[in-house]
Amino acid sequence: MSKEQFASWLEEKEITLTSRMEEQFDLYYRLLIEWNKHMNLTGITAEDEVYEKHFFDSLTAAFPIDIMKVEHVIDIGAGAGFPSIPLKICFPHLSVVIVDSLKKRISFLEHLAKELHIDNVTFLHGRAEDIARDSHHRDHYDVALARAVARMPVLTELCLPFVKKNGIFIALKGASGQVEQKEANKACRLLGGRWLEPYVTKLPNEKSNRYILRMEKVDATPKKYPRKAGIPAKKPLL
Ligand code: SAM
Repeated sequence: MSKEQFASWLEEKEITLTSRMEEQFDLYYRLLIEWNKHMNLTGITAEDEVYEKHFFDSLTAAFPIDIMKVEHVIDIGAGAGFPSIPLKICFPHLSVVIVDSLKKRISFLEHLAKELHIDNVTFLHGRAEDIARDSHHRDHYDVALARAVARMPVLTELCLPFVKKNGIFIALKGASGQVEQKEANKACRLLGGRWLEPYVTKLPNEKSNRYILRMEKVDATPKKYPRKAGIPAKKPLL
């Protein structure tokens, strides 16, 4: 996906890129590639592919929601900033908190935010399981996001505790999305969630399926969740 295609595919979704946003994506790409020489940020490095599989793919999180009504967003395991940094570029009104357990990736993101002149983004180095017990973050967010962090039963335990009542948890999934949704029925129920219709789409050029799984928080998450760091992955709620 060239930069021109990126802008026109977004236009179809009623997302208009300003020249400032185009410059931000351009610099994001350059810094990603530069830092990737010294640390493991992405296996995808060709510009067309980064625009489609990282930037466009991240923005699919906005397609099934009215993002202009969203204020507080948390991105769990953002790695090199996906999906929250592309969302923050296109929707600057968002207040974003980014969590990652790898300090080096947080350092990259801090540098990136400075270079892109992005404000209202907070970076937290730590495990989601630990941060979810902090009352500043628990039950606080309109939207919790995650891409490529864990399978749904684990991810639900990591993400739903952050969501406030009637807020949503959005997981960006590929072909395994349908199966993962079924796997996470128990986790959804135990953690106070309720499934909303998944939003199914394709990457415009590459054509692979994307399942955007959405879970609304309808009941408080019991205090015992998330369990201690590492336990959700070791003993998933199946
Ligand atoms: N979301 C990004 C993306 O889509 O490209 C990064 C995906 S990367 C495969 C997974 C990231 O999640 C890593 O940066 C890792 O450090 C982080 N991570 C994994 N488990 C975590 C946890 N329990 N709490 C916080 N971060 C976690």
